Amino acid sequence: HEDESIEETGFLEIRRIVSRFNEILTRMQVLEDSRKEFVSNVSHELKTPMTSMKVLADSLLQQGDQVPAELYREFMSDMVKEIDRENVIISDLLSLVKMDKKASKLEISNVDINELLQIIMKRLKPIAAQRNIELIFESFRPVTAEIDEVKLTLALSNLIENGIKYNKDNGWVRVSVNADHKYFYVKVADAGVGIPEDCQDRVFDRFYRVDKARSRDTGGTGLGLAITQNAVLMHKGEIKLYSKLGEGTTFTVRIPLKYNA
Ligand code: ADP
Repeated sequence: HEDESIEETGFLEIRRIVSRFNEILTRMQVLEDSRKEFVSNVSHELKTPMTSMKVLADSLLQQGDQVPAELYREFMSDMVKEIDRENVIISDLLSLVKMDKKASKLEISNVDINELLQIIMKRLKPIAAQRNIELIFESFRPVTAEIDEVKLTLALSNLIENGIKYNKDNGWVRVSVNADHKYFYVKVADAGVGIPEDCQDRVFDRFYRVDKARSRDTGGTGLGLAITQNAVLMHKGEIKLYSKLGEGTTFTVRIPLKYNA
């Protein structure tokens, strides 16, 4: 009987190891799939402006010296737009790589969060003004926190920029700051187009866009929220969104006041 029970224990142990091994394999497969998807998305996104540029350049070449000056200017200006777009995608990709949790370290300093947000909002004001969108700032208390100023500036700018981009003309974006003894909170709310419920889980995914055309028209790459989420997670923070289609969106960010590595 004893032998049998040892055998049984051994058998169970092997089964446990095999099942653990399978679990690890599955997890590796998921990682590998998401890596492949990322590479394929990057290639696609980088190729799109290239393809347009090639078509434009080819058609100019084919027409030789006969191209009317106006058409020539129009094609050249379209090419410049595509080059600009390519540059935006590349710089977003670089930011994303820099925000890779393992690849980079935070440059921590003590930062006045209210001041930081006011500086960001001042910078974005001209963009908002183009569509008569009001930027509202409210702070419930003074806050200084240990953060990486460059990374969080980028993260919070992305949220406010989105609030402007995905808004209606004459709309508003409200940024509020609050804190308790442990965390500070930044809320970015807009009365814009909103995000359909079934897309809300995916907006943080790299390259995901609810409305490709609108995102592209406004210079979006689909990387903004992925960058923002990475930056927040690097600070051991949390980001959440509440949104109702046609009514608006609110992103809330919670970050510890003291950074602990
Ligand atoms: P993009 O460069 O396209 O703006 P993001 O990663 O910043 O990429 O956002 C992903 C998608 O989430 C956007 O394309 C847009 O569809 C949606 N989105 C983000 N912020 C908002 C918002 N404030 N209101 C409505 N939709 C939003």
